[in-house]
Amino acid sequence: MDDAARKTSLISASRRVVIGGAAASAALIAIGARGAVRLPAGLFTLGVASGEPSPDGIVLWTRLAPRPLEADGGMPPQSVPVRWEVAEDDRFASIVRSGTGLADANWAHSVHVEVTGLRPGRWYHYRFIAAGETSAVGRTRTAPASGAPCDRLRAAFGSCQKYEVGFYAAYRQMVADDPDLIVFLGDYIYENEPFPAEAVRTHGQPEAKDLPGYRIRYATYKLDPLLQAAHHAVPWLTTWDDHEVANDYADALDENNSDPAAFLLRRAAAYRAYYEHLPLRASARPIGPSARLYRTVDWGSLAQFQIVDDRQYRGPRACQPPGLVAAHKKYASLVAACPDLLDPSRTMLGKEQESWLMDKLGSSKAQWNLLTQQTIMHQDARIPSGHPERGPLIPADTWSGYPRARDAILRRWVEAGTSNPIALGGDIHAFAADDFRDPDKPQGPAIGTEFVGGSITSLFHDPTFKQQSAREGIAFAENEVHGYGLLTLTPKSGECVFRGVDDARREDSGVRDLVRFPIEAGRPGINIEHA
Ligand code: FE
Ligand code: CA
Repeated sequence: MDDAARKTSLISASRRVVIGGAAASAALIAIGARGAVRLPAGLFTLGVASGEPSPDGIVLWTRLAPRPLEADGGMPPQSVPVRWEVAEDDRFASIVRSGTGLADANWAHSVHVEVTGLRPGRWYHYRFIAAGETSAVGRTRTAPASGAPCDRLRAAFGSCQKYEVGFYAAYRQMVADDPDLIVFLGDYIYENEPFPAEAVRTHGQPEAKDLPGYRIRYATYKLDPLLQAAHHAVPWLTTWDDHEVANDYADALDENNSDPAAFLLRRAAAYRAYYEHLPLRASARPIGPSARLYRTVDWGSLAQFQIVDDRQYRGPRACQPPGLVAAHKKYASLVAACPDLLDPSRTMLGKEQESWLMDKLGSSKAQWNLLTQQTIMHQDARIPSGHPERGPLIPADTWSGYPRARDAILRRWVEAGTSNPIALGGDIHAFAADDFRDPDKPQGPAIGTEFVGGSITSLFHDPTFKQQSAREGIAFAENEVHGYGLLTLTPKSGECVFRGVDDARREDSGVRDLVRFPIEAGRPGINIEHA
Protein backbone atom coordinates (compact mmCIF):
# COMPACT_ATOMS: atom_id res chain seq x y z
CA MET A 1 0.00 0.00 0.00
CA ASP A 2 1.39 3.42 -0.88
CA ASP A 3 1.28 6.25 1.65
CA ALA A 4 -1.79 7.95 0.20
CA ALA A 5 -3.73 4.69 0.13
CA ARG A 6 -2.62 3.91 3.65
CA LYS A 7 -3.79 7.31 4.88
CA THR A 8 -7.17 6.92 3.20
CA SER A 9 -7.52 3.47 4.64
CA LEU A 10 -6.57 4.72 8.10
CA ILE A 11 -9.00 7.60 7.95
CA SER A 12 -11.86 5.37 6.93
CA ALA A 13 -10.82 2.87 9.56
CA SER A 14 -10.76 5.49 12.27
CA ARG A 15 -14.25 6.65 11.25
CA ARG A 16 -15.71 3.20 11.56
CA VAL A 17 -16.75 1.89 14.88
CA VAL A 18 -14.26 -0.57 16.23
CA ILE A 19 -16.18 -3.59 17.40
CA GLY A 20 -15.24 -4.85 20.83
CA GLY A 21 -14.84 -8.58 21.27
CA ALA A 22 -18.18 -10.06 22.21
CA ALA A 23 -16.64 -13.47 22.69
CA ALA A 24 -13.87 -12.11 24.94
CA SER A 25 -11.35 -14.30 23.13
CA ALA A 26 -11.19 -12.27 19.96
CA ALA A 27 -12.25 -8.94 18.56
CA LEU A 28 -13.14 -7.72 15.11
CA ILE A 29 -11.35 -4.67 13.95
CA ALA A 30 -12.13 -2.67 10.83
CA ILE A 31 -9.18 -2.28 8.50
CA GLY A 32 -10.66 -0.03 5.86
CA ALA A 33 -11.71 -1.12 2.40
CA ARG A 34 -10.63 -4.70 3.01
CA GLY A 35 -13.18 -5.21 5.71
CA ALA A 36 -12.58 -6.52 9.17
CA VAL A 37 -10.12 -8.94 10.72
CA ARG A 38 -10.50 -10.95 13.87
CA LEU A 39 -7.79 -10.27 16.46
CA PRO A 40 -6.99 -12.49 19.42
CA ALA A 41 -7.41 -10.91 22.83
CA GLY A 42 -4.44 -9.62 24.81
CA LEU A 43 -2.88 -7.35 22.20
CA PHE A 44 -0.64 -5.28 24.48
CA THR A 45 1.51 -8.00 26.05
CA LEU A 46 4.74 -6.09 25.38
CA GLY A 47 3.65 -2.89 27.08
CA VAL A 48 4.24 0.61 25.79
CA ALA A 49 7.24 2.90 25.55
CA SER A 50 8.22 6.45 24.70
CA GLY A 51 11.44 8.04 23.59
CA GLU A 52 13.25 10.80 21.70
CA PRO A 53 11.80 13.74 23.64
CA SER A 54 11.91 17.08 21.85
CA PRO A 55 10.57 20.42 23.12
CA ASP A 56 7.23 19.84 21.45
CA GLY A 57 6.95 16.11 21.08
CA ILE A 58 7.76 12.53 21.85
CA VAL A 59 7.79 9.16 20.08
CA LEU A 60 5.23 6.67 21.37
CA TRP A 61 5.66 2.94 20.80
CA THR A 62 3.76 -0.26 21.20
CA ARG A 63 3.52 -3.56 19.37
CA LEU A 64 0.43 -5.72 19.03
CA ALA A 65 1.49 -9.24 19.97
CA PRO A 66 -1.20 -11.45 21.52
CA ARG A 67 1.18 -14.45 21.30
CA PRO A 68 4.52 -12.66 21.64
CA LEU A 69 6.72 -15.77 21.60
CA GLU A 70 5.49 -16.80 18.16
CA ALA A 71 7.19 -15.48 15.05
CA ASP A 72 4.13 -13.52 13.90
CA GLY A 73 3.21 -12.42 17.40
CA GLY A 74 -0.14 -14.17 16.96
CA MET A 75 -1.33 -11.46 14.59
CA PRO A 76 -3.03 -11.82 11.21
CA PRO A 77 -1.10 -10.66 8.13
CA GLN A 78 -3.00 -7.36 7.91
CA SER A 79 -1.94 -4.00 9.34
CA VAL A 80 -4.26 -2.67 12.00
CA PRO A 81 -5.20 0.89 12.99
CA VAL A 82 -4.45 1.78 16.60
CA ARG A 83 -5.73 4.85 18.39
CA TRP A 84 -3.31 6.77 20.61
CA GLU A 85 -4.02 9.40 23.23
CA VAL A 86 -1.80 11.82 25.13
CA ALA A 87 -3.21 13.47 28.25
CA GLU A 88 -2.07 15.77 30.99
CA ASP A 89 -3.39 13.38 33.63
CA ASP A 90 -3.20 9.63 34.09
CA ARG A 91 -7.01 9.26 34.00
CA PHE A 92 -7.19 10.88 30.57
CA ALA A 93 -9.68 13.53 31.66
CA SER A 94 -7.67 16.10 29.75
CA ILE A 95 -6.55 14.61 26.43
CA VAL A 96 -4.33 17.07 24.58
CA ARG A 97 -3.40 15.05 21.48
CA SER A 98 -4.82 11.93 19.89
CA GLY A 99 -4.87 10.17 16.56
CA THR A 100 -4.67 6.89 14.78
CA GLY A 101 -1.41 5.11 14.02
CA LEU A 102 -0.76 1.92 12.18
CA ALA A 103 0.33 -1.40 13.65
CA ASP A 104 2.25 -2.20 10.51
CA ALA A 105 2.24 -5.87 9.55
CA ASN A 106 5.54 -5.33 7.73
CA TRP A 107 7.12 -4.22 11.00
CA ALA A 108 5.81 -6.91 13.36
CA HIS A 109 2.66 -4.84 14.07
CA SER A 110 4.74 -2.26 15.88
CA VAL A 111 3.33 1.24 16.20
CA HIS A 112 5.62 4.29 16.16
CA VAL A 113 3.86 7.61 16.59
CA GLU A 114 5.78 10.89 16.46
CA VAL A 115 3.55 13.16 18.54
CA THR A 116 4.03 16.92 18.08
CA GLY A 117 2.27 19.99 19.43
CA LEU A 118 3.02 19.31 23.08
CA ARG A 119 4.33 21.90 25.53
CA PRO A 120 8.02 21.95 26.45
CA GLY A 121 9.32 20.63 29.75
CA ARG A 122 6.04 18.90 30.70
CA TRP A 123 5.07 15.44 31.87
CA TYR A 124 2.27 13.63 30.03
CA HIS A 125 0.48 10.29 30.02
CA TYR A 126 -0.29 8.18 26.97
CA ARG A 127 -2.07 4.99 25.97
CA PHE A 128 -3.11 3.01 22.91
CA ILE A 129 -6.52 1.54 22.05
CA ALA A 130 -7.16 -1.22 19.52
CA ALA A 131 -10.06 -3.62 19.02
CA GLY A 132 -11.68 -2.45 22.21
CA GLU A 133 -8.57 -3.09 24.28
CA THR A 134 -6.62 -0.38 26.05
CA SER A 135 -2.90 -0.61 26.72
CA ALA A 136 -1.11 0.12 29.94
CA VAL A 137 -0.73 3.84 30.60
CA GLY A 138 2.74 5.23 30.02
CA ARG A 139 4.20 8.37 31.52
CA THR A 140 6.50 10.54 29.48
CA ARG A 141 7.80 14.05 29.10
CA THR A 142 9.00 16.59 26.61
CA ALA A 143 12.40 18.26 26.63
CA PRO A 144 12.75 21.88 27.79
CA ALA A 145 12.22 24.60 25.20
CA SER A 146 15.04 24.94 22.70
CA GLY A 147 17.91 26.94 24.18
CA ALA A 148 15.93 27.73 27.32
CA PRO A 149 17.52 27.59 30.74
CA CYS A 150 16.73 24.44 32.69
CA ASP A 151 17.35 23.82 36.38
CA ARG A 152 18.13 20.14 36.25
CA LEU A 153 18.50 17.03 34.14
CA ARG A 154 18.49 13.63 35.77
CA ALA A 155 19.33 10.69 33.51
CA ALA A 156 19.82 7.08 34.53
CA PHE A 157 22.13 5.20 32.17
CA GLY A 158 22.68 1.47 31.82
CA SER A 159 23.63 -1.29 29.41
CA CYS A 160 23.99 -5.06 29.05
CA GLN A 161 20.86 -6.75 30.37
CA LYS A 162 21.43 -10.43 29.61
CA TYR A 163 18.09 -12.03 30.45
CA GLU A 164 19.31 -15.38 31.63
CA VAL A 165 21.90 -14.32 34.17
CA GLY A 166 19.82 -11.95 36.22
CA PHE A 167 16.62 -10.10 36.99
CA TYR A 168 15.98 -6.45 36.39
CA ALA A 169 15.93 -5.18 39.98
CA ALA A 170 18.09 -2.28 38.78
CA TYR A 171 15.08 -0.91 36.91
CA ARG A 172 12.88 -0.89 40.00
CA GLN A 173 15.30 1.50 41.66
CA MET A 174 15.86 3.47 38.45
CA VAL A 175 12.14 4.23 38.36
CA ALA A 176 12.20 5.14 42.06
CA ASP A 177 15.07 7.53 41.33
CA ASP A 178 12.56 9.48 39.21
CA PRO A 179 14.84 10.39 36.31
CA ASP A 180 13.77 12.52 33.36
CA LEU A 181 15.19 9.92 31.00
CA ILE A 182 16.64 6.44 30.88
CA VAL A 183 19.59 6.19 28.52
CA PHE A 184 20.40 2.68 27.28
CA LEU A 185 23.85 2.21 25.81
CA GLY A 186 23.58 -1.18 24.14
CA ASP A 187 23.14 -4.93 24.56
CA TYR A 188 19.38 -4.59 25.06
CA ILE A 189 19.15 -8.25 24.04
CA TYR A 190 21.75 -10.99 23.73
CA GLU A 191 21.48 -13.01 20.57
CA ASN A 192 23.29 -16.04 22.01
CA GLU A 193 22.01 -19.56 22.42
CA PRO A 194 20.96 -20.60 25.97
CA PHE A 195 23.59 -20.26 28.64
CA PRO A 196 22.51 -22.64 31.39
CA ALA A 197 25.72 -22.55 33.42
CA GLU A 198 24.94 -19.34 35.28
CA ALA A 199 21.30 -18.89 34.35
CA VAL A 200 18.71 -17.79 36.89
CA ARG A 201 16.04 -18.08 34.17
CA THR A 202 16.14 -19.55 30.70
CA HIS A 203 14.43 -18.80 27.43
CA GLY A 204 15.29 -22.06 25.70
CA GLN A 205 15.65 -20.42 22.29
CA PRO A 206 18.41 -21.13 19.77
CA GLU A 207 20.81 -18.36 18.79
CA ALA A 208 18.89 -15.53 17.08
CA LYS A 209 20.08 -15.28 13.49
CA ASP A 210 17.04 -14.30 11.45
CA LEU A 211 14.03 -12.02 11.76
CA PRO A 212 11.75 -14.48 13.60
CA GLY A 213 14.62 -15.32 15.96
CA TYR A 214 15.38 -11.69 16.81
CA ARG A 215 11.67 -10.81 17.16
CA ILE A 216 11.12 -13.65 19.62
CA ARG A 217 14.23 -12.62 21.56
CA TYR A 218 13.01 -9.03 21.93
CA ALA A 219 9.59 -10.27 22.96
CA THR A 220 11.18 -12.51 25.60
CA TYR A 221 13.02 -9.56 27.13
CA LYS A 222 10.13 -7.16 26.80
CA LEU A 223 7.77 -9.50 28.66
CA ASP A 224 9.82 -8.82 31.79
CA PRO A 225 7.62 -6.76 34.13
CA LEU A 226 10.44 -4.63 35.57
CA LEU A 227 11.75 -3.73 32.10
CA GLN A 228 8.22 -2.85 31.00
CA ALA A 229 7.70 -0.74 34.11
CA ALA A 230 10.87 1.23 33.33
CA HIS A 231 9.57 1.93 29.83
CA HIS A 232 6.17 2.88 31.23
CA ALA A 233 7.69 5.36 33.69
CA VAL A 234 9.92 7.66 31.61
CA PRO A 235 11.10 8.21 28.02
CA TRP A 236 14.18 6.33 26.85
CA LEU A 237 17.09 7.17 24.58
CA THR A 238 18.71 4.07 23.14
CA THR A 239 21.66 3.13 21.05
CA TRP A 240 22.83 -0.34 20.20
CA ASP A 241 26.07 -2.20 20.77
CA ASP A 242 27.09 -5.60 19.40
CA HIS A 243 24.67 -8.12 20.93
CA GLU A 244 21.63 -6.62 19.27
CA VAL A 245 23.18 -8.35 16.24
CA ALA A 246 26.15 -10.60 17.10
CA ASN A 247 29.09 -10.58 19.50
CA ASP A 248 31.84 -8.06 18.71
CA TYR A 249 30.80 -7.41 15.14
CA ALA A 250 32.43 -4.62 13.19
CA ASP A 251 30.43 -3.37 10.21
CA ALA A 252 30.12 -6.43 7.95
CA LEU A 253 32.45 -8.69 9.95
CA ASP A 254 31.22 -10.91 12.74
CA GLU A 255 33.57 -12.44 15.30
CA ASN A 256 34.11 -15.47 13.06
CA ASN A 257 34.91 -13.40 9.97
CA SER A 258 31.94 -15.04 8.23
CA ASP A 259 31.06 -14.15 4.67
CA PRO A 260 30.21 -10.41 4.84
CA ALA A 261 27.28 -10.70 2.43
CA ALA A 262 25.66 -13.35 4.62
CA PHE A 263 26.39 -11.35 7.75
CA LEU A 264 24.76 -8.25 6.30
CA LEU A 265 21.55 -10.23 5.77
CA ARG A 266 21.67 -11.16 9.43
CA ARG A 267 22.39 -7.54 10.40
CA ALA A 268 19.40 -6.38 8.36
CA ALA A 269 17.12 -8.74 10.29
CA ALA A 270 18.61 -7.65 13.62
CA TYR A 271 18.34 -3.92 12.87
CA ARG A 272 14.76 -4.40 11.73
CA ALA A 273 13.80 -6.17 14.96
CA TYR A 274 15.56 -3.47 16.99
CA TYR A 275 13.49 -0.76 15.35
CA GLU A 276 10.31 -2.80 15.75
CA HIS A 277 10.77 -2.96 19.52
CA LEU A 278 11.95 0.49 20.56
CA PRO A 279 10.51 4.02 20.53
CA LEU A 280 12.58 5.38 17.64
CA ARG A 281 11.81 7.97 15.00
CA ALA A 282 11.03 6.91 11.44
CA SER A 283 14.40 8.45 10.54
CA ALA A 284 16.03 5.50 12.34
CA ARG A 285 14.02 2.89 10.43
CA PRO A 286 16.46 0.54 8.73
CA ILE A 287 16.73 0.07 5.01
CA GLY A 288 18.24 -3.37 4.56
CA PRO A 289 21.39 -3.61 6.70
CA SER A 290 21.63 0.18 7.19
CA ALA A 291 19.98 2.43 9.76
CA ARG A 292 20.84 5.93 10.85
CA LEU A 293 20.81 5.73 14.63
CA TYR A 294 23.22 8.56 15.41
CA ARG A 295 21.54 11.79 16.46
CA THR A 296 21.50 14.56 19.05
CA VAL A 297 18.90 15.19 21.73
CA ASP A 298 18.89 18.61 23.41
CA TRP A 299 17.84 19.38 26.95
CA GLY A 300 17.30 23.15 26.74
CA SER A 301 20.56 25.02 27.10
CA LEU A 302 21.63 22.59 29.84
CA ALA A 303 22.75 19.49 27.95
CA GLN A 304 23.10 17.87 24.58
CA PHE A 305 23.26 14.10 24.11
CA GLN A 306 25.41 13.19 21.12
CA ILE A 307 24.23 9.62 20.58
CA VAL A 308 26.57 7.63 18.36
CA ASP A 309 26.69 4.24 16.68
CA ASP A 310 30.14 2.70 16.95
CA ARG A 311 29.26 -0.68 15.37
CA GLN A 312 27.73 -0.12 11.96
CA TYR A 313 30.53 1.83 10.31
CA ARG A 314 33.69 0.77 12.14
CA GLY A 315 36.74 -0.38 10.22
CA PRO A 316 38.26 -3.85 10.50
CA ARG A 317 39.96 -4.74 13.79
CA ALA A 318 43.57 -3.73 14.22
CA CYS A 319 46.64 -5.93 14.22
CA GLN A 320 44.91 -9.23 13.44
CA PRO A 321 47.18 -12.20 12.84
CA PRO A 322 47.38 -12.72 9.06
CA GLY A 323 44.91 -15.04 7.40
CA LEU A 324 42.08 -15.00 9.96
CA VAL A 325 39.64 -13.11 7.75
CA ALA A 326 40.31 -15.19 4.67
CA ALA A 327 40.01 -18.40 6.70
CA HIS A 328 36.78 -17.26 8.44
CA LYS A 329 38.48 -17.82 11.79
CA LYS A 330 37.61 -16.14 15.06
CA TYR A 331 39.14 -12.68 15.33
CA ALA A 332 41.82 -11.96 17.93
CA SER A 333 40.23 -9.82 20.65
CA LEU A 334 43.53 -9.03 22.39
CA VAL A 335 46.34 -7.98 20.08
CA ALA A 336 49.92 -6.78 20.30
CA ALA A 337 50.44 -3.29 18.92
CA CYS A 338 51.39 -3.04 15.26
CA PRO A 339 51.75 -0.14 12.80
CA ASP A 340 48.15 -0.67 11.61
CA LEU A 341 46.89 0.45 15.04
CA LEU A 342 47.92 4.04 14.40
CA ASP A 343 46.83 4.17 10.77
CA PRO A 344 44.95 7.48 10.59
CA SER A 345 42.33 5.96 8.32
CA ARG A 346 41.21 3.47 11.00
CA THR A 347 37.68 4.54 11.76
CA MET A 348 35.29 3.75 14.61
CA LEU A 349 32.32 5.90 13.56
CA GLY A 350 32.82 5.99 9.81
CA LYS A 351 33.66 9.17 7.90
CA GLU A 352 30.14 10.58 7.66
CA GLN A 353 29.20 10.06 11.30
CA GLU A 354 32.58 11.29 12.49
CA SER A 355 32.30 14.55 10.58
CA TRP A 356 28.71 14.93 11.83
CA LEU A 357 29.97 14.46 15.41
CA MET A 358 32.85 16.90 14.96
CA ASP A 359 30.34 19.45 13.70
CA LYS A 360 28.06 18.92 16.71
CA LEU A 361 30.97 19.20 19.15
CA GLY A 362 31.77 22.57 17.60
CA SER A 363 28.23 23.91 17.28
CA SER A 364 26.62 22.73 20.52
CA LYS A 365 25.72 25.61 22.81
CA ALA A 366 24.84 23.30 25.68
CA GLN A 367 26.54 23.67 29.05
CA TRP A 368 27.10 19.87 29.28
CA ASN A 369 27.94 17.73 26.26
CA LEU A 370 27.19 14.06 26.77
CA LEU A 371 28.93 11.73 24.34
CA THR A 372 26.46 8.86 24.53
CA GLN A 373 28.35 5.85 23.22
CA GLN A 374 28.76 2.14 23.72
CA THR A 375 32.02 1.15 25.35
CA ILE A 376 35.01 2.33 27.38
CA MET A 377 37.09 5.14 25.87
CA HIS A 378 39.91 5.11 28.44
CA GLN A 379 43.09 6.25 26.74
CA ASP A 380 45.69 3.80 27.94
CA ALA A 381 43.93 0.45 27.97
CA ARG A 382 46.79 -2.02 27.87
CA ILE A 383 46.62 -5.47 29.33
CA PRO A 384 49.84 -7.20 30.40
CA SER A 385 50.39 -10.05 27.96
CA GLY A 386 52.40 -12.16 30.37
CA HIS A 387 55.10 -12.28 27.69
CA PRO A 388 57.48 -9.34 28.15
CA GLU A 389 58.80 -9.76 24.61
CA ARG A 390 55.28 -9.22 23.21
CA GLY A 391 54.60 -6.17 25.33
CA PRO A 392 51.13 -5.26 26.57
CA LEU A 393 48.03 -6.37 24.69
CA ILE A 394 45.29 -4.11 23.39
CA PRO A 395 41.57 -4.90 23.37
CA ALA A 396 40.72 -4.78 19.67
CA ASP A 397 36.96 -4.29 20.15
CA THR A 398 36.98 -1.04 22.20
CA TRP A 399 38.24 2.44 21.33
CA SER A 400 41.71 1.14 22.26
CA GLY A 401 41.68 -0.63 18.90
CA TYR A 402 40.83 2.66 17.20
CA PRO A 403 43.03 5.14 19.10
CA ARG A 404 43.27 7.77 16.36
CA ALA A 405 39.49 7.89 16.08
CA ARG A 406 39.20 8.35 19.85
CA ASP A 407 41.93 10.98 19.94
CA ALA A 408 40.24 12.92 17.14
CA ILE A 409 37.21 13.39 19.40
CA LEU A 410 39.35 14.44 22.37
CA ARG A 411 41.27 16.91 20.19
CA ARG A 412 38.00 18.27 18.87
CA TRP A 413 36.77 18.89 22.44
CA VAL A 414 39.91 20.97 23.07
CA GLU A 415 40.08 22.76 19.74
CA ALA A 416 36.36 23.60 19.55
CA GLY A 417 36.11 24.42 23.24
CA THR A 418 33.25 21.93 23.65
CA SER A 419 31.64 22.87 26.95
CA ASN A 420 32.02 20.32 29.76
CA PRO A 421 32.34 17.09 27.77
CA ILE A 422 31.35 13.86 29.51
CA ALA A 423 31.41 10.40 27.88
CA LEU A 424 28.83 7.85 29.01
CA GLY A 425 29.60 4.23 28.20
CA GLY A 426 28.73 0.58 28.79
CA ASP A 427 29.73 -2.73 27.15
CA ILE A 428 32.46 -3.87 29.53
CA HIS A 429 30.08 -5.25 32.20
CA ALA A 430 31.87 -3.17 34.81
CA PHE A 431 31.78 0.29 36.28
CA ALA A 432 34.66 2.60 35.43
CA ALA A 433 35.32 6.30 35.83
CA ASP A 434 38.28 8.29 34.68
CA ASP A 435 39.66 11.54 33.30
CA PHE A 436 40.39 12.24 29.66
CA ARG A 437 43.56 14.11 28.81
CA ASP A 438 44.56 16.04 25.72
CA PRO A 439 46.33 13.45 23.51
CA ASP A 440 48.92 16.15 22.76
CA LYS A 441 49.48 16.88 26.47
CA PRO A 442 49.30 13.48 28.16
CA GLN A 443 50.67 14.92 31.39
CA GLY A 444 48.34 17.93 31.26
CA PRO A 445 45.12 18.53 33.18
CA ALA A 446 41.90 16.61 32.61
CA ILE A 447 39.87 17.83 29.63
CA GLY A 448 36.80 15.65 30.11
CA THR A 449 35.28 12.90 32.17
CA GLU A 450 34.27 9.32 31.48
CA PHE A 451 31.58 7.30 33.28
CA VAL A 452 31.02 3.67 32.31
CA GLY A 453 27.84 2.60 34.04
CA GLY A 454 28.20 -1.10 34.81
CA SER A 455 25.82 -3.77 33.50
CA ILE A 456 22.18 -4.35 34.43
CA THR A 457 22.84 -8.12 34.69
CA SER A 458 25.60 -9.30 32.33
CA LEU A 459 28.58 -11.00 33.95
CA PHE A 460 32.28 -10.24 33.87
CA HIS A 461 34.32 -12.58 36.05
CA ASP A 462 37.86 -11.27 35.80
CA PRO A 463 39.57 -11.39 39.19
CA THR A 464 42.37 -9.20 37.84
CA PHE A 465 40.14 -6.42 36.46
CA LYS A 466 40.42 -4.10 39.44
CA GLN A 467 44.20 -4.56 39.75
CA GLN A 468 44.68 -3.98 36.05
CA SER A 469 42.49 -0.90 36.18
CA ALA A 470 44.47 0.47 39.12
CA ARG A 471 47.70 -0.18 37.22
CA GLU A 472 46.35 1.71 34.25
CA GLY A 473 45.37 4.60 36.47
CA ILE A 474 41.59 4.26 36.07
CA ALA A 475 40.18 6.27 38.96
CA PHE A 476 37.36 3.86 39.79
CA ALA A 477 36.67 0.32 38.59
CA GLU A 478 34.20 -2.32 39.82
CA ASN A 479 33.26 -5.50 37.97
CA GLU A 480 31.72 -7.64 40.71
CA VAL A 481 28.61 -5.52 41.17
CA HIS A 482 25.88 -4.89 38.58
CA GLY A 483 23.90 -1.70 38.32
CA TYR A 484 23.71 1.63 36.54
CA GLY A 485 24.75 5.24 36.63
CA LEU A 486 22.57 8.13 37.78
CA LEU A 487 23.69 11.45 36.35
CA THR A 488 22.26 14.70 37.70
CA LEU A 489 23.27 17.99 36.09
CA THR A 490 22.41 21.58 36.96
CA PRO A 491 23.81 24.69 35.23
CA LYS A 492 26.81 24.92 37.57
CA SER A 493 27.38 21.46 38.97
CA GLY A 494 26.06 17.95 39.33
CA GLU A 495 26.97 14.43 40.27
CA CYS A 496 27.22 10.95 38.89
CA VAL A 497 26.33 8.15 41.29
CA PHE A 498 27.09 4.51 40.49
CA ARG A 499 24.20 2.47 41.90
CA GLY A 500 24.95 -1.18 42.66
CA VAL A 501 22.41 -4.03 42.78
CA ASP A 502 22.93 -6.13 45.91
CA ASP A 503 22.24 -9.35 44.00
CA ALA A 504 21.24 -9.23 40.35
CA ARG A 505 20.19 -12.89 40.61
CA ARG A 506 17.21 -11.80 42.74
CA GLU A 507 14.21 -9.97 41.36
CA ASP A 508 13.62 -8.29 44.75
CA SER A 509 17.22 -7.19 45.23
CA GLY A 510 17.95 -3.88 46.88
CA VAL A 511 20.19 -1.23 45.35
CA ARG A 512 22.81 0.89 47.09
CA ASP A 513 25.21 3.65 46.19
CA LEU A 514 28.67 2.37 45.29
CA VAL A 515 30.37 5.68 44.80
CA ARG A 516 29.50 9.30 44.12
CA PHE A 517 31.38 11.62 41.79
CA PRO A 518 30.68 15.32 42.37
CA ILE A 519 30.82 17.30 39.11
CA GLU A 520 31.60 20.98 38.72
CA ALA A 521 31.21 22.97 35.51
CA GLY A 522 34.52 24.16 34.14
CA ARG A 523 36.49 21.63 36.23
CA PRO A 524 36.65 18.39 34.23
CA GLY A 525 37.85 15.13 35.69
CA ILE A 526 37.01 12.75 38.47
CA ASN A 527 36.38 13.60 42.10
CA ILE A 528 35.45 10.64 44.25
CA GLU A 529 33.29 10.29 47.34
CA HIS A 530 33.18 6.64 48.33
CA ALA A 531 29.86 5.47 49.71
FE1 FE B 1 27.20 -6.66 27.06
CA1 CA C 1 28.81 -5.22 24.11
